Amino acid sequence: MTDTIPLDSSWIAANPPPVHGLGTTKNSRGRVLAIGGSAMVPGALRLTGEAALRVGAGKLQMATIESAAIGLGLGLLVPEAGVLALPQDSDGEIDGAAGPLLEKSLNGCDTLIIGPGMGSTDAAKALLQLILMQPCDKVTMVVDALAIGSARDLRETLAAFDGRMVFTPHHGEMAMLTGIDEDAIAQSPEKIARDVAAQYGAVVVLKGSDTVIAAPDGTTLHYGGGGTGLATGGSGDVLAGAIGGLLSRGASPIIAAGWGVWLHGQSGRRVATTSGPIGFLAREIPAEFPRLLPQ
Ligand code: AMP
Ligand code: MG
Repeated sequence: MTDTIPLDSSWIAANPPPVHGLGTTKNSRGRVLAIGGSAMVPGALRLTGEAALRVGAGKLQMATIESAAIGLGLGLLVPEAGVLALPQDSDGEIDGAAGPLLEKSLNGCDTLIIGPGMGSTDAAKALLQLILMQPCDKVTMVVDALAIGSARDLRETLAAFDGRMVFTPHHGEMAMLTGIDEDAIAQSPEKIARDVAAQYGAVVVLKGSDTVIAAPDGTTLHYGGGGTGLATGGSGDVLAGAIGGLLSRGASPIIAAGWGVWLHGQSGRRVATTSGPIGFLAREIPAEFPRLLPQ
């Protein structure tokens, strides 16, 4: 039986992410490519992308459907980022024909975040398949939202990313990935997160009011400190961005996941002290990250 370790200030102090000090350039802090968004959820990548920059990622590119790229690309939302407009299908999802357009970006990135704001498992699966056809042998990846459900059919191909992935499911997405119902997941979250981590070679962040993080070697962390205000639209998109940004800075998957969950929770608590415990916006969370990161 593996012990579960509290994700608290002691773990945080003992497991720092890489520090990039005086004289280092943005290139040393990595390039993030965030892919997602749909006609139904066009703004999700703004949350993910901003979170990645707020944990110090060096460069950000967001790849999304044409109609959402206009708003992001004109600098209305994240003027600091590059934007890639991808073809969209009749449902407003990223189209499978996006492959050749994505090739250059995939080859130039250090960390991929896939899934925030996508509304179709089939579209997410087609996208993951495209990614897995590229020689991304050093790239780290965060698999979020409906992209997690699509991973179920791609387990063998995903083995190419063994040891370089973080999955960020809530209980519903974990049910899609495993076929286990949500009640059973709630009964044994540690065991299920550990099993999936070992099966996929991924660090698994099983989210909820209590979050369990499990690594393929069985290391298991527990965090329950974020506060109810984090249960709000877009909150998970922010978390995926924070974890991806930390990966791009060279943190290992378990350190990126642990620090991402902790930063997200502590930042939520800080925002809550000024705006009240419930009703703050997911977009208000990332601005707190820099103060909480080691310099
Ligand atoms: P998502 O469902 O993908 O938007 O992710 C929601 C985020 O908020 C995750 O990081 C959860 O761990 C967190 N969260 C959801 N509900 C609560 C809650 N009641 N208390 C604290 N954190 C929560
Ligand atoms: Mg989510």
